Amino acid sequence: MKIKILIPVLVSLILAGCQDKFYSVEDFSSVKKIDSHIHIGSDDGVFEEQAADDNFILITLNVDHGDSANLRRQFNLASLSAQKYPGKVFFGPSFLFDTTGWRTDEWSSKVISQLEEDLSAPGVITVKIWKNIGMTLRDREGNFIMVDDPGLQPVIDFIKGKGFPITGHLGEPRNCWLPLDEMTVSSDSGYFAAHPQYHMYIHPEYPSYEDQIRARDNMLEANPDLTFIGCHLGSLEWNVDSLADRLDKYPNMAVDMSARICHLQYQTVDEREKVRDFCIKYHDRLLYGTDVGYGGGGNPDGFRKRIHETWLDDWKYFTTDEEMTSELFKGKFKGLKLPAEVIDKFYYDNAVKWYKLPVNNPGNL
Ligand SMILES: [Zn+2]
Repeated sequence: MKIKILIPVLVSLILAGCQDKFYSVEDFSSVKKIDSHIHIGSDDGVFEEQAADDNFILITLNVDHGDSANLRRQFNLASLSAQKYPGKVFFGPSFLFDTTGWRTDEWSSKVISQLEEDLSAPGVITVKIWKNIGMTLRDREGNFIMVDDPGLQPVIDFIKGKGFPITGHLGEPRNCWLPLDEMTVSSDSGYFAAHPQYHMYIHPEYPSYEDQIRARDNMLEANPDLTFIGCHLGSLEWNVDSLADRLDKYPNMAVDMSARICHLQYQTVDEREKVRDFCIKYHDRLLYGTDVGYGGGGNPDGFRKRIHETWLDDWKYFTTDEEMTSELFKGKFKGLKLPAEVIDKFYYDNAVKWYKLPVNNPGNL
């Protein structure tokens, strides 16, 4: 009788103990971590070496810039890295979205036969799709090709059939549809000043922010059996409530935080508890990532320092309650000091689960 009562008490004590555990800055190198969104563009091993020093596994994603030679080069570098560092580097190839023959069987057969070959390479865990879908590609009539276009369905079906998730950078941060001086973070105003072709505020004839989000939502609705990882907080970076709505609605969707942690920090300035509660509630759906790219050459030590500092700054934000500032916006904010079990989800378990990574998964706690 006594034992029967004791067991639930013990279980709840252990669980309570887990929730009370927090990591510190000192734990940074000993905790196993995954950066779920980077871009390796060199075979010199510099990125991989720093990842080993800081205890990170890397997921490198290819991007369809519309240049087939460049896409092949990205594939070869990612594939080489995955073979050289098995279990430490995984990758997501993309496919060339050539609109020649779009919406014909020939178009989908061509894409599928390339994917068939690419998906068999060691270390492949996903297929990456990019914002060219929705923002640059047009059909013969001049209409934008959106991600919910039925013409893409055979390719989506093929990827699903192979058991792979799709990783999608679709749309842009909402800032993209605002004038430069109204953007919330300077990484966005700097990027769109330098890439006016993607600054939608000056292209009102292009699909709206809402059009982009709607197309992605439609695609998810049409494919409830597809595992989808939305890059950059699913382009809902500006408001955790809006992201929470989507995560509630689409249980097959997770998001990576790459290049958008500054937007969480921006919201932390005035609404720290809200952001913290969001992170805890959706601890199973958020994947840590940076979106840092490395092309080799130049200054490898400088790169190693930069990526190490980026990783460490993010770690401080999530694990401690230190007062911080960001060079990307005005205002101070305090770190979120999330429980260690949430940190383990963000930094390891979620990437293993959503990408079905073939790694031993003993977690950190
Ligand atoms: Zn990226």
